[in-house]
Amino acid sequence: MPFLLTPPTRRDFLTAAGAGIASLAFAGASSARQAGAPRRPLRLALLSDTHIPADASETYRGFSPVDNLAKVVPQVAAAPVEGVLVGGDLARLAGLPGDYDRLRDMLGPLTARWPVGLVLGNHDDRGNFLKAFTPSTPSPVQNKVAATRDAGGLRFVLLDSLLAPNVTPGQLGNAQRTWLGQTLAASTTPTVVLVHHTLGGNDGELMDADRLFDVVRPHRHVKAIMYGHSHKYEVREREGIQLINLPAVAYNFADSEPVGWVESVWTDEGVDLTLRAIGGNMAANGQTTSVHWAR
Ligand SMILES: [Zn+2]
Repeated sequence: MPFLLTPPTRRDFLTAAGAGIASLAFAGASSARQAGAPRRPLRLALLSDTHIPADASETYRGFSPVDNLAKVVPQVAAAPVEGVLVGGDLARLAGLPGDYDRLRDMLGPLTARWPVGLVLGNHDDRGNFLKAFTPSTPSPVQNKVAATRDAGGLRFVLLDSLLAPNVTPGQLGNAQRTWLGQTLAASTTPTVVLVHHTLGGNDGELMDADRLFDVVRPHRHVKAIMYGHSHKYEVREREGIQLINLPAVAYNFADSEPVGWVESVWTDEGVDLTLRAIGGNMAANGQTTSVHWAR
């Protein structure tokens, strides 16, 4: 997965409290809610495209991915969040072992405190990733790193769109799409999907994006799909599903785009997204975009 093991103290607490493994993901599990009481929002840090190189001196378009993540980690650590999601392209270009060693070290202050969900992108290498990061549960899909976690009255589904390291387009594949369909059919909990690739029809995007929508379409409880890949920050809608394109931590591809991360507050009715820009276009830094979906 994606999800790293939570620190032992929290795990012990949750086990002792009877919350069980299913709600291990984030604090604020729905089991604590009394009937009729307002649900406490779930606060997550959303990062994508960290592109961490083994060589800390590497730069691209004038940005240093290592310097940028070194700025973002303390911001996240100081934020009132209870979990972190990272939308892929974790490594600089080809997913080398040294890239993941550095990333694991840099994320240490966050993984020590909170569940951290990581998905793979086209600049990742599944085998090398799995040598550096240990999923908390085995992937339900062979040769992919997928996961689900319930938190705050929502279900998060993390997909693996890595086709081959350093090959731009992505693919979920038949087995993962079949698993996704079964997973969505098993529960009507409002669901948010995280995948690396953008869902358009260009050559470098998710090749089976239309088939992903075919799987998702019958399940009206899928409320949002988050992705990275384009190094753009954008929220739009397709077929009633909110599409949240997370900005890159490492660098932008256009001066008009911010570089940074997004602080998010989730309920079962929507999400407030606040941009925490650290570079690029800073104009929208601190601005909150409120996304609502039909219940
Ligand atoms: Zn990227």
